Amino acid sequence: MELVDSHCHIDFSPLGEDIDAVLRYARENSVSHLLCVSVNMRDFPKVRSVAESNPGVFASVGVHPNEQDEPETSVDVLIHEAKHPRVIAVGETGLDYFRSSGDLDWQRDRFVRHIEAARQVALPLIIHTRDAADDTLSMMNDHAARDIGGVMHCFAENWQVARRALDLGFYISFSGIVTFKSAHELKEVATKVPLDRMLVETDSPYLAPVPFRGKTNQPAYVRHTAEYIAELRGDTLENIFSATTDNFFNLFSKARREFTLGVTSTISSAGVHGS
Ligand SMILES: [Zn+2]
Ligand SMILES: [Zn+2]
Repeated sequence: MELVDSHCHIDFSPLGEDIDAVLRYARENSVSHLLCVSVNMRDFPKVRSVAESNPGVFASVGVHPNEQDEPETSVDVLIHEAKHPRVIAVGETGLDYFRSSGDLDWQRDRFVRHIEAARQVALPLIIHTRDAADDTLSMMNDHAARDIGGVMHCFAENWQVARRALDLGFYISFSGIVTFKSAHELKEVATKVPLDRMLVETDSPYLAPVPFRGKTNQPAYVRHTAEYIAELRGDTLENIFSATTDNFFNLFSKARREFTLGVTSTISSAGVHGS
């Protein structure tokens, strides 16, 4: 059985200190692929190089909505970086009114640039939204994000918001939050999202699922979230593993499935041949 961690930050401390061990442990826990998500352009070269040097690891390019001090990245630069063979998505991008406050026009302008770049390179968006669901969805709608699609990552909103995102063609990705005792509304969402539109993620090193809540998260733990969702839905683990894995490759169609974690062939040649 294979499972994909659709959103993690293995370049962040403490995971970044021993990425080989993190990937090995992920492989031992059925994780075949993972997407290491960019949060700013300073660290993007590291994200890209982790993907370049490890089969089964993919990268995104983008600047997180809470990276307020980051100099603005142009659409052209995003497009240029997104053309790298290992970069399969644009983000994470979106709106976060929880951790940023004041006049947030800069955040909305940044979001628009990311949608524009994603549209031009025809790559899916990785959307981060917190305390800003209405604005996030209306901007996705106004800027035709449905043309390229993407994922609402680390989803923690109600069913109404999920429904609107699904209507825009987006996928819903569940993190360890769904395993937390207090997340009643989210558990309900996890039972309602169509199986063919669901992803799982760790968002590691944050948000470790039960039974590791409060500890450093890592991609290997994504299986606990998948197991929890299988139980919630009364579905088999096999179904959840294979559906979320198929969904990942349906959405991120630039990602090549044949190279998995722990395979030793040189990835540089993999990037040059084929599509
Ligand atoms: Zn996020
Ligand atoms: Zn993230």
